[in-house]
Amino acid sequence: MSTTITEALTGKVPFDVPYTLLSGRHWTTAQAHKPPSNKFVQPPPTAKHVNPAWGRFSGNEWVTVMGCSAIVLFCPLLALLACVCLKHFDGGLLPTLWAFMTTHPVEFIVRYAPRPTAGASAAYAGWLLFQAALYAWLPSPIGYGQRTPAGHLLPYRVNGIHAWVVTHVVSVVAVYTGMLDPAVIAKNWEGLLVVANVYGYLLAVVAYLKAHLFPTHEADRKFSGSMVYDFYMGIELNPRFGEWWDFKLFHNGRPGIVAWTLINLSFAAWQFQLHGYISNSMIIVNILHAFYVVDFFINEDWYLRTIDICHDHYGFYLAWGSMVWLPGTYTLQAQYLARYPVDLSTPVAAAILLIGISGYVVFRSVNYQKDIVRRTNGECNIWGKKAEVIRTTYKTEDGKMHESLLLCSGWWGIVRHANYLGDLVLSYSGCAVCGVHNILPWWYAVFMTALLLQRCVRDHSRCLGKYGEDWERYCGRVKWKLIPGVY
Ligand code: NDP
Repeated sequence: MSTTITEALTGKVPFDVPYTLLSGRHWTTAQAHKPPSNKFVQPPPTAKHVNPAWGRFSGNEWVTVMGCSAIVLFCPLLALLACVCLKHFDGGLLPTLWAFMTTHPVEFIVRYAPRPTAGASAAYAGWLLFQAALYAWLPSPIGYGQRTPAGHLLPYRVNGIHAWVVTHVVSVVAVYTGMLDPAVIAKNWEGLLVVANVYGYLLAVVAYLKAHLFPTHEADRKFSGSMVYDFYMGIELNPRFGEWWDFKLFHNGRPGIVAWTLINLSFAAWQFQLHGYISNSMIIVNILHAFYVVDFFINEDWYLRTIDICHDHYGFYLAWGSMVWLPGTYTLQAQYLARYPVDLSTPVAAAILLIGISGYVVFRSVNYQKDIVRRTNGECNIWGKKAEVIRTTYKTEDGKMHESLLLCSGWWGIVRHANYLGDLVLSYSGCAVCGVHNILPWWYAVFMTALLLQRCVRDHSRCLGKYGEDWERYCGRVKWKLIPGVY
């Protein structure tokens, strides 16, 4: 069975077939695309929990709760401390932490703490509204997510690449016409980071309250029994306002990620204003990160079927993370280099750039292999040979069985998470250009290592719950998670 554009436009999409048969893009607009309201498979109204076997881990153990509380309390502090470290301590992490621990808190705040400003707050609000308008009104293909544990198959507006292009064109025009200082973000960074933190927290509170008061898909909620864990990891899987306003896709994939390349460019401009030139290290950071960001938007449809969208519930982790952690800490290399330029010899610069791009190529090709094999229901070639797959099934809360497949050839036949490996190579390359004088600009690579290693573990338990013996069979064939012979 295949889905035609007409079927998608008229809303007559056979929603009970696996997404793999549906995931072609359909050009339309939200206004034109008004599917009937009963188009989703509705879960039984009494369902309280959704397939705990492959939904997320419950998380009410006290260690987990303590860990989540610490992250909620301290991560915002860390994001702000990075700012203090760069401005007042030459990027030195240890002197910053020492001052933090030995100075009276009030004195520390008065001397160092980033301050909110009216201008930065107004600009931030304008930025959110601008991105929201682009998300809502730019023409958009419709992409489909993965079937949720409760059986929903949600459509999404995937117009991120248009939003990115429009935003960057508007910014370039504003700079060239003299309306905007290219270093405006860098110069107002502290105020922007403070207001982003406030927004990130508010968003997490709204997500928590909405999940209790007016959930979008009741049966896809998950309660762990711990308020803290629920606040941190989220309750709703795909919270929405109305039919199209998807909280998760908008916040994960727009204000923060679109800003990423603009922030890097702004710090590059600031480096130029401060030092009279742009270092080759800064150029490489901008190039590598731009690859990653533009790739994300070009392949936004693929993102709909990654763990962020299909598995992680929407709480502080994603809400605050995408609004503060991502733009605040993923750009630390550019923030660092703006103040403390690093000049690499040409061979070193070329080697790092090449390694970084190789990491990106691996990352993209692994993700592509999974996507194409699922889109074509296994009827495709991988590395010149017919894809080898394990055909499997899984059950949703509404009792229906669905088909899926696990790719066992290509990258996915070597290790289970080669995409993480490519991502890590790219991350480390972006940090390596900052040299080894300070650890702060390496933060992105350190964080990605921890994040992706933890993902290997939790993805394993999720897939084991979802596919059972078939997953074990796959793991029997592909023994290594990340690096053959090592892990
Ligand atoms: P994946 O895209 O690898 O998705 C994992 C899921 O894929 C599994 O849960 C399973 O889901 C499915 N799957 C597992 N094995 C197979 C197989 N053999 N064949 C087919 N499908 C399989 O991981 P993520 O969503 O974590 O990450 C996506 C990308 O995003 C990665 O490249 C990662 O590096 C990057 N990333 C970047 C982050 C950042 O902050 N920069 C953060 C996190 C990720 P199911 O069967 O249910 O579809």
